[in-house]
Amino acid sequence: MRDALLRRLDDEREGLIAFLQGFLRARSANPPGDTWEAARHIGAFLDAAGAPWRVASAKDHLPNIVGSFDGGRPGRHLVLNGHIDVFPPLDEGGWSGERRDGKLFGRGAADMKAGTAAGVIAYAWLHGVRDELAGRLTLTAVSDEQTGGRWGTRWLFETMGDQVRGDCCLNGEPSGLNNVRFMEKGTLRLIITIEAPGGHGGYPHLSRNPNKVAASLIAEMDRRFHMREAPLPEAVARALTTPEAVAVLEAGMGPGAAEVVRRMTFNPGVLRGGLKVNQIPHECVLEADIRIPVGIDRDAVLAEVAEVCAAHDARFAVVEAHSYPGSMADPDGEMLRIVQDNAEAATGKRPVPMSSLGGSDSRYWRWEGVPAYLYGPSPVSMGRGDEHVTEEEYLAVVRVHLLSAYDYLRRSAPRQAPG
Ligand SMILES: [Zn+2]
Repeated sequence: MRDALLRRLDDEREGLIAFLQGFLRARSANPPGDTWEAARHIGAFLDAAGAPWRVASAKDHLPNIVGSFDGGRPGRHLVLNGHIDVFPPLDEGGWSGERRDGKLFGRGAADMKAGTAAGVIAYAWLHGVRDELAGRLTLTAVSDEQTGGRWGTRWLFETMGDQVRGDCCLNGEPSGLNNVRFMEKGTLRLIITIEAPGGHGGYPHLSRNPNKVAASLIAEMDRRFHMREAPLPEAVARALTTPEAVAVLEAGMGPGAAEVVRRMTFNPGVLRGGLKVNQIPHECVLEADIRIPVGIDRDAVLAEVAEVCAAHDARFAVVEAHSYPGSMADPDGEMLRIVQDNAEAATGKRPVPMSSLGGSDSRYWRWEGVPAYLYGPSPVSMGRGDEHVTEEEYLAVVRVHLLSAYDYLRRSAPRQAPG
């Protein structure tokens, strides 16, 4: 059966590429949302395979596609997760789905229509051989990830619970074929406000200058928070510091990434203060983003933020919608090894376990103790005007997701009863 799936990947290569091209042509920019065109494209593919699915939406314009089926025997529950929505394209060319020089171009090609397509294909094809499988396979293709996920995966967890939680989750967010992502940092997003009476620039004895206070506050936060090392669990620290892991990290995310991945970072992203050069501002507002690795307690960081703000007589607010804890799965977990085996067979190179620098919906599973892993195409072009995947990496991602889901649901088959 496994060989038959491999043969089918070869036989239907052109069809799989056409499926992704159609998906890339279907508009699904978020903001503003409205991903129906792309959701219908997925639905048509699932219908053609006879695989069950339905739309579960909190918002009419943001359809989440959810489907589930049982194998021939009881076993474990695997969930495939991906998002349909993409960043807005730079221009209409972002919806071309153009095929050129062995590449497929379009907004979301990397983040993450190739990976979501892999999940959809795996779900549809495995439905065709479901009698061979044990347990349950669920597909969740959501329409709200790029703007925080309130109406996507988070909403599915709130409203469907066990139906989407499962025992393991596989996601095709961009990673690069040479690594599998098992953890990501959390974020703490802050708005800090410094106020003063303000006044004439020649009268500094009558008011403090909020811009000067902000400069001091930024320096203090930078000194305390930026590049603070996280006390990572030993297995995680080991996985992230092998020479192979460091080489992959720095090749994929730039020199220095291997250090950043294990440390907290502080980014003062927006600073607004003052109206005129010869005035003392009455207010300065700082928007800052602190990225917190697993191993550093968010509440302790927040207490330090409060301390620094108090010392500068500044107010702060946490932007809760964009603040959440880090998350991780076992860097030696079963599904991670299954993905490594299948990726090695597909590409000739064994991917290393790796941490993400950005966020993904896999955190919703990990927070509940369910192992979740990301394996997808190269992230390098995501969000750019020339966003693309190569045909070869797309087909490799499809193959790895299909066979990894198959292997996971085969292994969970109970032993044959004697006699
Ligand atoms: Zn994404």
